[in-house]
Amino acid sequence: MVKSLKGKITSVYLFLVLTIAIVGLASVFTLYTLRKSVDGLMIDNYKSINASNNMMEAIEIQNVEIINYIRLGKQDAISSYYENGDNFYKWFNIERNNITEKGEREYVQSIQKTYIEFLKLFSKLQEIKNSRGTEKALEYYDSSIIPVFTKIRQQLRDLSLINEQVMINSKDGVTEDANNSMYIILSLSIIAVVAGFFFSIFFTNKFLKPIYLLTETMKLVKEGDLNQQAPIVSEDEIGSLAKEFNNMTKRLQVFEESTLGKLMDEKNKSIAIVKGISDPLIVLDRNFKIMLLNNACEQFFKVDEDIVIGKHFLEVIRNGDLFDYIWNVYDSKEKYSEKIMNLKYDEREYYFNVSITMIEDTYSDVNEIIVFLKNITEIKQVEKMKTDFVSSVSHEFKTPLTSLMMGTSLIMDNNVGILNKKQRDIMETIKEDTDKLLNLVNNLLELSKVEYDKSIFEIKDCNIEEIIQSCFKDFYKCAEAKKIHLHYQIEKNLPIISVDFEKLSWVINNLITNSLKFTKEQDEILITAYKGEDKIYVSVRDTGIGIPDEYITKIFDKFIQVKDKDSDTRGTGLGLAIAKQIVEVHGGQIWCESELGEGSIFTFTIPV
Ligand code: ADP
Repeated sequence: MVKSLKGKITSVYLFLVLTIAIVGLASVFTLYTLRKSVDGLMIDNYKSINASNNMMEAIEIQNVEIINYIRLGKQDAISSYYENGDNFYKWFNIERNNITEKGEREYVQSIQKTYIEFLKLFSKLQEIKNSRGTEKALEYYDSSIIPVFTKIRQQLRDLSLINEQVMINSKDGVTEDANNSMYIILSLSIIAVVAGFFFSIFFTNKFLKPIYLLTETMKLVKEGDLNQQAPIVSEDEIGSLAKEFNNMTKRLQVFEESTLGKLMDEKNKSIAIVKGISDPLIVLDRNFKIMLLNNACEQFFKVDEDIVIGKHFLEVIRNGDLFDYIWNVYDSKEKYSEKIMNLKYDEREYYFNVSITMIEDTYSDVNEIIVFLKNITEIKQVEKMKTDFVSSVSHEFKTPLTSLMMGTSLIMDNNVGILNKKQRDIMETIKEDTDKLLNLVNNLLELSKVEYDKSIFEIKDCNIEEIIQSCFKDFYKCAEAKKIHLHYQIEKNLPIISVDFEKLSWVINNLITNSLKFTKEQDEILITAYKGEDKIYVSVRDTGIGIPDEYITKIFDKFIQVKDKDSDTRGTGLGLAIAKQIVEVHGGQIWCESELGEGSIFTFTIPV
């Protein structure tokens, strides 16, 4: 049994070569038989016919010589007679050795008998002619020799005829043989063609079938079905290929299962961690449909994960503000954002630090959105209590402080008597500290208002140029006195914005006040305003002392001040915290860029 593909293909070729060889050999054999038949026809029968013709010729000459002898009595005639007799025997012997046909032998024997009689009769004729004369010899010739001569001629003709007949018959046989040969060769050729055709088709299909099966399996594996095994239908090279392919898919499967297993473990761990988080967490797909939510989320929003999976965020958590925030972060292509949000749920007010993380795929398309709601309601409540306390204490402080201020002013204006130098110095210090204290109390009250009472904001359409110009007017003189170059650059045709004029002026004033505080003679303060994509940017830039890196973000927190030796410039540490609150209530952001010794830039944005 041939196993290799090479061997199989060679076998098919050998079979085809063998078929051609058989057809060729059969053709050669039939042609050889045909040639033999033609040879038989030509050689044997032709030889007999030729012999009878030559015998006929010899006996006819002998007959003429008999007449010559009778009429002329010539001795030459007798010699010629016997020479032709020899000739007759020569051809007779050839014929006798060439008997090929049935009945031919009998003819030869009777010819021999008749010829012997013919010879005997001529001897008798010679006697008659010598003894009784020519006339009697002629009579004898007519009566005895002529009939024998006629008989032998007839016999020779018959002999010739037998052979001629056989020749004719043989010709038919040869024609038949030729026809048979033709049919045999034709049949063998047809058989060879048909067998070759079916044999080729059969073996081509047989050889190609494993390749087709392997290709089909490969397609399925390519589509990800690693369970597929290519059937091994042969033990040839294709069978080995299929075996190797199966080994490969098995290894791939093992690899995939192990990787998948590990991934599943990791996923389960991650899910367990997510589920265990004590604050609500929701995972959304890019169409804002819920993919996962944790137990805290189920409890807080009173939903069942199994029911809400696949539903739109708004369908489950009906909070427009929260969704707006998620949508804005998604739309702005930010990867992470967080902000504190006040959410009303079940008639109660909650504070959440909402953080949104975008999970991107390899093409940087957002695949998942993680919304984490850190519940800071309690912290906020404590903070509120603290602020309320500070606010009410500040409030309580304000009246006595105001009367303290008024009292010191009255004393310093000499309304209760003339002060000596020492008394005036003490009163100056009391007035300065009371001023600072009143400033702190005012700032604390302002902060508590902007933090917890949004209703104090009077939002109306304003022109930012107007706000900046009014602030500029307030500080121009002061700057000039300090020999500081205060100026502004405002982009033309800035859009109208919806803001609280007073509060925004407060922010700009605070930034200018700080800049004036931290600059010296010949320094410069520049106020700019320009439009970005969908917001207006307002900056206050100075060439003052600058802020150390570690304070850049912290200075917006309450009571944070850069530690320096010059305590005169110290304020309350609340100005930037209030400014941040006001900007954020307007939906904007505030930040600082600074280089120590070079100056600072404070920028805030207001949405258009
Ligand atoms: P304060 O009432 O103390 O000015 P702020 O919140 O306004 O409080 O400022 C916080 C601190 O940030 C300041 O004490 C100061 O150290 C720093 N600061 C603010 N603005 C500037 C500025 N333009 N240049 C340098 N430092 C500044």
